[in-house]
Amino acid sequence: MYELIQTGADTWYMSAPTNMGFYRYSRTEVCAIDAADKPTAEQALRHIKEQGWRLTKLFLTHSHADHVSGAAYLREQTGCEVYAPGISAAAVEHSFLIATTLYGGRPAEEMCSRLLLPPACPCKELTSDALPDGLEFTRLDGHDMAQAAFRTADGVWFTGDCVISAEALEKHRISFMYNIGQHLQSLEKLSGLSGELFIPAHDQPCRDVKPLAEINRAAVLEVASDIRNMCAQPVTIDELIEKSLEKYGIRLYLMQYLLVGETVRSYLSWLLEKGEVGTVFSGTKLLWQNTEEQ
Ligand SMILES: [Zn+2]
Repeated sequence: MYELIQTGADTWYMSAPTNMGFYRYSRTEVCAIDAADKPTAEQALRHIKEQGWRLTKLFLTHSHADHVSGAAYLREQTGCEVYAPGISAAAVEHSFLIATTLYGGRPAEEMCSRLLLPPACPCKELTSDALPDGLEFTRLDGHDMAQAAFRTADGVWFTGDCVISAEALEKHRISFMYNIGQHLQSLEKLSGLSGELFIPAHDQPCRDVKPLAEINRAAVLEVASDIRNMCAQPVTIDELIEKSLEKYGIRLYLMQYLLVGETVRSYLSWLLEKGEVGTVFSGTKLLWQNTEEQ
């Protein structure tokens, strides 16, 4: 853990709870992919110095705290420019938006835990012009509102959280998601990408990402089916969240409630758009029901 591993002539990654990528695009200049948390970013900076490199750019795959929390530190220490795809750039710069989206209103201070909210960091929206020669990106939205994967000239892909490990899926079954339809499309897109090596942020690198993408796809469809079944009788969103926490054995605390809450709401939107669940009112109560049962 935390060692620097070379995976191509100009590509390295640091194995960590959130893997960080490095791409050397001139004799001494490197860019980093993802910033993990601050202690991990500190370790990354020690490696960068030991190698005699200069960090000029930091590319974030998406806005979640476990990918972004080290960004402000790296920028402060090196003056590197920070980029994130689409709307994620706004969430990196104004990180309270993450808690606002999770809660659906102004979050109370106790909803703004450091685990959810990275220190705010100036961040530009990612465009091709920002990339050094040899680095490319493609969008893999869905897990977050905007997510990018990066490919170095050595054919190494850093895929953010588009896929999570088979072990994590086995253990938790439900994983955080913003847009289910987009996420399924992104999994298909990821399966079609050509590359030498794929490095998910929280898993071992693999040469063939298709089997993992398929496991992730099956998990999404299984959760969707569970949620449909939980709507056999009309239920409120809060009851659905409660049922999900029970079904997946998730211990309830405020942060978990927010994360599972957003994910369950996102599944409901997708099922509603597909016509598989519908809304009914009971008095002033909004209820969700499987359309087969209506
Ligand atoms: Zn994430």
